[in-house]
Amino acid sequence: MFVQFGKCQIELVQGDITLQEVDAIVNAANSRLAGGGGVDGAIHLAAGPVLMEETRRRYPDGCPTGSAVATSAGRLMAKHVFHAVGPVWGGGHRKERELLSSAYEACLNLAIEHNCESIAFPAISTGVYRFPKDQAAEVSLSTTRDFCLDHGRPQLIRFVLFDEGSYGAFARVLEDLATADGQS
Ligand code: ADP
Repeated sequence: MFVQFGKCQIELVQGDITLQEVDAIVNAANSRLAGGGGVDGAIHLAAGPVLMEETRRRYPDGCPTGSAVATSAGRLMAKHVFHAVGPVWGGGHRKERELLSSAYEACLNLAIEHNCESIAFPAISTGVYRFPKDQAAEVSLSTTRDFCLDHGRPQLIRFVLFDEGSYGAFARVLEDLATADGQS
């Protein structure tokens, strides 16, 4: 499914983010940029060791929660990987929503800085970081919609949801945003 907001399209697909052909692929990293399981492990495995070499060399202090850093993309079909650090869910009163929104915004700003016209996001923080999927969908999609309307770039923002439950949660929220925007 996709919805147009201004000059940008927000698209939802169910699948594996490592297979996407886009200018930038976003990784759900940890603040030490140390690699791990989930989507982080899959991206490092598919991209090859160059990613870890580059994060160690360029970002030895890691990356704070709510922010993102860029590397090349190794063997992935992308030009860049943006390593975004989402918050660990702690019940909702530890600025989790603000930090998740800020992680998405940091990636969208990196996309503009690196002249990317297309970017693919996973559902950051919804795995081992336990952010509830429906709330993550609201924060992720409304942040992205606002960025689209403010900046008109990048042209394509694709959310790659790994399982049906995540796809459903994101689809419900995107439908609501489209309706609120006056689209049917
Ligand atoms: P976090 O630590 O930010 O919660 P995880 O990697 O544990 O990160 O999970 C984030 C989301 O990425 C989860 O919804 C998980 O199902 C999903 N995911 C795992 N592997 C992939 C993949 N190859 N492509 C897209 N999404 C993935």
